[in-house]
Amino acid sequence: ISKSKVTVVGSGNWGSVAAKLIASNTLRLASFHEEVRMWVYEETLPNGEKLTDVINRTNENVKYVPGIKLGKNVVADPDLENAVKDSNMLVFVTPHQFMEGICRRLVGKVKGHVEAISLIKGMEVKMEGPCMISTLISQQLGINCCVLMGANIANEIAVEKFSEATVGYRENREIAEKWVQLFTTPYFMVTAVQDVEGVELCGTLKNVVAIAAGFVDGLEMGNNTKAAIMRIGLREMKAFSKMLFPSVKDSTFFESCGVADLITTCLGGRNRKVAEAFAKNEGKRSFDELEAEMLQGQKLQGVSTAREVYEVLSHRGWLEFFPVFTTVHEISIGRLPPSAIVRFSVEGST
Ligand code: NAD
Ligand code: 13P
Repeated sequence: ISKSKVTVVGSGNWGSVAAKLIASNTLRLASFHEEVRMWVYEETLPNGEKLTDVINRTNENVKYVPGIKLGKNVVADPDLENAVKDSNMLVFVTPHQFMEGICRRLVGKVKGHVEAISLIKGMEVKMEGPCMISTLISQQLGINCCVLMGANIANEIAVEKFSEATVGYRENREIAEKWVQLFTTPYFMVTAVQDVEGVELCGTLKNVVAIAAGFVDGLEMGNNTKAAIMRIGLREMKAFSKMLFPSVKDSTFFESCGVADLITTCLGGRNRKVAEAFAKNEGKRSFDELEAEMLQGQKLQGVSTAREVYEVLSHRGWLEFFPVFTTVHEISIGRLPPSAIVRFSVEGST
């Protein structure tokens, strides 16, 4: 049987750690080529060197996961088309706002039987309605696309602390098992469920709840308030997912991609952290400014996802049923003060 060849499209914080996980397995498993290509959105570091050259020389992504060896079989490539051309397993892991452009560049460049998986938490809103990122990949490139989501703060996985993850698949269990095999390590336990929309919506929507949790932290409202916001947020995640896709399963919310990811992101994620700073500054400094200062190139997904969710809700006349989602957006654009998060969310949900 011919061996599978893997390319990781993306090389940020999670993208680089995902490449490390995968590369440890392609060395071990005979059914994969050892080399893992990793597409790098090229940038020049302050010392004048190209990031790609530094990754290939030092085996570290010094900008997005400093101090972590990715594995010698990870090869950084700044040329997107070249990076995917010989691979039949594509792992997409970039901030979601860049995926439309990336897909456009890849149309017609992905040939033969190719399988994809998206680790991207986010969605696009089009004239026809919301479009999940796995659907965008699938439709634009004409390939099947699974998803992998979970309670997966990349910096913790980088130092091999234990976590779980969930693969969501549509029909083909065999393909899902192949992805499970590619990602599973002793410190990364992966389970497959047949609910691609449910898994992807969990990963996407929890980022909006994490922004709300960050506001609560910034206002020092305490653990009970934060738990209340998380509970109401989880209920909105479930209601929104099922209103969009009635096939979404209740059990998916109890997988790692559901309640576990919600918890870890509301405790230790970047969305929480930046939203906390936003509330502490009483909304006087924008998310864009705080993101650039605090994350140094890494990207938030929750603020744009809140806007996208808001568009869907207002278009369908559902705003009043989703006080947490709605209020997060209105606070993030400055229409409401951060303190509105509890007033509106809790009153609105009773
Ligand atoms: P990141 O937040 O580190 O983002 C930075 C990356 O974006 C860099 O690779 C940068 O080169 C790239 N980039 C910047 N401008 C670009 C452009 N114009 N076009 C293409 N790429 C550009 O990225 P990440 O942490 O790898 O996150 C990717 C996805 O994975 C997101 O959807 C995120 O929600 C999800 N995720 C992240 C984590 C985590 O802990 N970091 C965990 C689970 C899931
Ligand atoms: P943040 O982007 O908020 O850091 O969340 C990371 C994540 O998705 C953990 O699973």
